[in-house]
Amino acid sequence: MAGLFAGVLLQRAGWQVKIFERSEGELASRGAGIATHDELYAAFAQAGVTLSAAMGVESTGRVTFARDGSVIGRLPMRQIMTSWGLMYRFLRAQCATGDYVGAMSVIDLAQDADGVTLFLGDGGRHRADYVIAADGLRSTIRGKLMPEVGLRYGGYVAWRGLANECDLPPAVLDELAGRMAFCLPPDEHMLGYLVAGPDDRLTPGERWYNWVWYRPAPADTVLPDLLTDDNGYLHAQGIPPPLLRDEHVAAMRRDAARLLCPQFGAVVAATARPFIQPIWDVCAPRFIDGRVLLIGDAACTARPHIGLGVSKAADDAARLAAALDEPASARDAALAEWEAGRLRFARAAMAQSRRLGSYIGASGDASAAAHYRLPAQVMAQVAAAHPRQYLEDVDA
Ligand SMILES: Cc1cc2nc3c(=O)[nH]c(=O)nc-3n(C[C@H](O)[C@H](O)[C@H](O)COP(=O)(O)OP(=O)(O)OC[C@H]3O[C@@H](n4cnc5c(N)ncnc54)[C@H](O)[C@@H]3O)c2cc1C
Repeated sequence: MAGLFAGVLLQRAGWQVKIFERSEGELASRGAGIATHDELYAAFAQAGVTLSAAMGVESTGRVTFARDGSVIGRLPMRQIMTSWGLMYRFLRAQCATGDYVGAMSVIDLAQDADGVTLFLGDGGRHRADYVIAADGLRSTIRGKLMPEVGLRYGGYVAWRGLANECDLPPAVLDELAGRMAFCLPPDEHMLGYLVAGPDDRLTPGERWYNWVWYRPAPADTVLPDLLTDDNGYLHAQGIPPPLLRDEHVAAMRRDAARLLCPQFGAVVAATARPFIQPIWDVCAPRFIDGRVLLIGDAACTARPHIGLGVSKAADDAARLAAALDEPASARDAALAEWEAGRLRFARAAMAQSRRLGSYIGASGDASAAAHYRLPAQVMAQVAAAHPRQYLEDVDA
């Protein structure tokens, strides 16, 4: 998403752009639900895309359910919840075909005073004035330039899934539709909301219910077992959904029936193929290295509780495109200012996301954990519509 935003914005500003994407084919089926923010709409507008409410499903507020299904808190908060695939298709359609090279990995790079040479997976090279590293959490480019920057495991995983809206019992759907819902088992946290369904369908009855259940998974015991497939192979960087062992899915389903409110129990039961993502922290100490510029998760990955990953990626790209648009004589100063602003924002977002996750697995600071597990705090701050008010050193 960060790379597509940067590519589209820079093309519009008159730059010649090439996007190299390691994956083959379309990526539209990859993601799940995404909360939208002002920064995301601003970046789309800068990219020439006018968005409307048809971008997603409106949520008017938040609700927290107790284990027995009773409501223990409500909070009004208007927000459009969209899906990763829908946004991906919007952006991909803006990209000139020949400028997007799929199934092409960047393997290495070398830079000098005039430009950067990328070494590609097919043995080819590509020379550019600048390279924008938008290659995600496990960025190859960050690894080459800053090998000392490692990923830090948060101590828990996110179980995720999409259930067909029409597979939910009507009484359950009635309680979940139109709001972001939470349930907070001890040291755990589940949330869910409706998003566009297959083929971006927004018609009631044809949407998906997107859910995320954060559960402790100690690094030396539970995590490696979760990431090991039926053949005994450990997928340390994340297990592809089809390889997740059935026994783990079955155990998660049993736990859902035991620990979650009945509304979420029904959602998990209606989800055909849940998947897991371990939660990591990583932040590069600088976002500029010579003529290489880091954006999105490659620059800094905040935990998903803040719900800002895509909006931050869009904002990184939009502000970078504006800085690069400065005349050559003023560009270095504009880039330095861009980097200082984005470092400040990324560090604040990462700190807030760690606070929000501090009680999961009870591994964080005990007094912070006690505060952030309160339903009122969870409903106000998790994936907030206006998160800047919770970020330190960032204008609200
Ligand atoms: C459980 C969970 C829930 C989340 N929920 C939300 C949410 O509600 N809202 C939200 O905004 N965000 C959410 N996120 C975060 C969001 O998914 C990311 O922050 C966002 O996708 C950042 O995008 P990116 O473009 O920087 O990186 P990525 O999406 O990782 O994209 C990087 C791209 O680079 C490609 N690539 C990697 N290496 C190479 C290489 N060497 N050569 C060529 N191509 C390469 C990859 O194939 C990929 O397409 C969530 C994340 C998780 C784990």
